[in-house]
Amino acid sequence: MNGEVLKEFDMEGRKVQIVLGDITLEEVDAIVNAANSHLKHGGGVAGAIVRRGGFEIQEESDEIVRERGPVRTGEAVVTSGGKLKAKYVIHTVGPVWRGGNHGEDKLLYRAVYNSLLKAHELGVESISMPAISTGIYGFPKERAVPIFARAIADFFREHGDSSIRIVRICNIDPVTAKIFAEKFKI
Ligand code: ADP
Repeated sequence: MNGEVLKEFDMEGRKVQIVLGDITLEEVDAIVNAANSHLKHGGGVAGAIVRRGGFEIQEESDEIVRERGPVRTGEAVVTSGGKLKAKYVIHTVGPVWRGGNHGEDKLLYRAVYNSLLKAHELGVESISMPAISTGIYGFPKERAVPIFARAIADFFREHGDSSIRIVRICNIDPVTAKIFAEKFKI
């Protein structure tokens, strides 16, 4: 398995792992992409996913935007995983940090929750997600952690029947991974 597990939690009978590693190498059923509304996967984790998974992920994304328009902040859509080990990429749009008084917390919560909901609808057992919004979008990392924890806990409480057995929060940046490992609480 790719990545180093820094912490592991039990949440409503499911495993949540904080991982230091490259999400594009994750051996899970689905990975989450921190996308923008137009699903133009240029930089950050999105760029890395398309570089390793192949341009078909970008083409499928373009098709989704052509059909339904831009993805709103907090929503999630699905493409194949292309050449990745993951079968699916769940693209969610986190909020751009604008000081904290523009609904950013709720929108980040929705991005995490709706990504899990998509995975649940796909019937997958394992999912790995990055620290959505905490890179280029500037959401403060320490503030993001309890939002991830709450969204995951709420999701499992509300979907006791879910196929999802394991959620990995995977970050390539050691500083961010450490913050998640230290601040994540259930
Ligand atoms: P956003 O625009 O939503 O902030 P970014 O892609 O800029 O998204 O960053 C989200 C997080 O993903 C950041 O914490 C960044 O360190 C991390 N990241 C970037 N590349 C990878 C990767 N290949 N694997 C895992 N995490 C990554």
